[in-house]
Amino acid sequence: MKPDLSYMPVPVIWGEGAVEKSASNLSAYGKKCLIVTGKTSAKSSGALDDVINALKQADISYNIFNEITENPRTVDCCRGGELARDIKADFVIGIGGGSPLDASKAVCIYASNPQIIDDDIYTAPVQNKPLPLVLIGTTAGTGSEVTAVSVLTRVNGRKQSVSGENYLARLVLADPEYTNSVPYKTTVSTALDALCHAVESMFTIRATAQSQELSLECAKKLYPILKAMVGGELPTPQLREILYLASLEAGYTIYIGGTAFPHGMGYALTEDYNVPHGLACAVFLPRYLKEAEKINPELAEKLYMAMGTDYSELEKMFQSLCSLDLKIPQEKINEYELRWESLKNFKSTSMSFNHKDGAQLVRELFK
Ligand code: NAP
Ligand code: ZN
Repeated sequence: MKPDLSYMPVPVIWGEGAVEKSASNLSAYGKKCLIVTGKTSAKSSGALDDVINALKQADISYNIFNEITENPRTVDCCRGGELARDIKADFVIGIGGGSPLDASKAVCIYASNPQIIDDDIYTAPVQNKPLPLVLIGTTAGTGSEVTAVSVLTRVNGRKQSVSGENYLARLVLADPEYTNSVPYKTTVSTALDALCHAVESMFTIRATAQSQELSLECAKKLYPILKAMVGGELPTPQLREILYLASLEAGYTIYIGGTAFPHGMGYALTEDYNVPHGLACAVFLPRYLKEAEKINPELAEKLYMAMGTDYSELEKMFQSLCSLDLKIPQEKINEYELRWESLKNFKSTSMSFNHKDGAQLVRELFK
């Protein structure tokens, strides 16, 4: 497979051996590198060893910061920035799923802006250019490789995104082989995340004809793979390749169109009930589709046609893949309703669905 990814906001080197092939390109970023990862998967996926070999080949020295957790915390990213400063890193390589990739974007900001500490990242001006960043994904889902967004967890435990050109990588090395080791549950959740990106971004105010076309293509790729996973089967390496490509494409669709209420509401389920990100957003996607049918029935129909299915089949698939045994108390839902009043994800489309409807939906799904 040789996809044309020249439209992406970041140069993407695609395919098997992408890291090895790019060893000489890395010298352009400097002589000293900080590698940012989570605890184990950078190593177990094979990506870390490939990166270390490439750095040795290019005569670049490195340190590893492997303290990034799921739903990365601003405080840990800030520590990563300090380390980058201490070792005088010229650039950063982020390896992992969305968490280490988002974290490494923040590390680059903290590293060159010592005045920005922890949650200041949401408000303080970025005075100095962030360190250059190379990203290597190991899950097929978030598309963080190509977005200008970093989703971090504040000191108070709330997830919040921060975005802008400062959060774009310089280079993406996209080798789908690294996703082969992702276990079943994470493969399902991350693939659902990619589908949410493609579908949510289609109906936002910022979507363009080009991003909507790409969303349709992503949905066409993702639906049969997700449907096959209902029976518990993992995708073959060939299907993993398609899945990873779709996740990058869906990343582009949110780069253009942004996300909508399933993402905004999903954060709460992750924060309070530890539901993995993709699953947490996908439980709200069927209702989003119902709302989308109201504002743009033609586009919704195109989406079902692209997937070769209809709403009721899709709903069944979501029920099988996203069954959450969760009861949310009334007080908690009231708290969400208050908090969601200012959530921008409710305003990214022309849907009338608002924070009150969001709270009602949580009541219906998790009583
Ligand atoms: P993740 O939180 O990065 O990783 C989930 C788990 O999968 C971790 O235990 C991780 O291990 C493991 N893992 C990763 N790659 C693996 C591999 N190849 N083999 C085996 N295990 C592997 O999951 P994610 O769904 O990719 O990222 C979710 C985060 O991205 C959320 O914080 C979400 O808000 C954010 N997000 C960002 C954007 C954006 O545009 N920036 C878009 C959507 C979502 P380790 O801990 O060892 O790494
Ligand atoms: Zn997402």
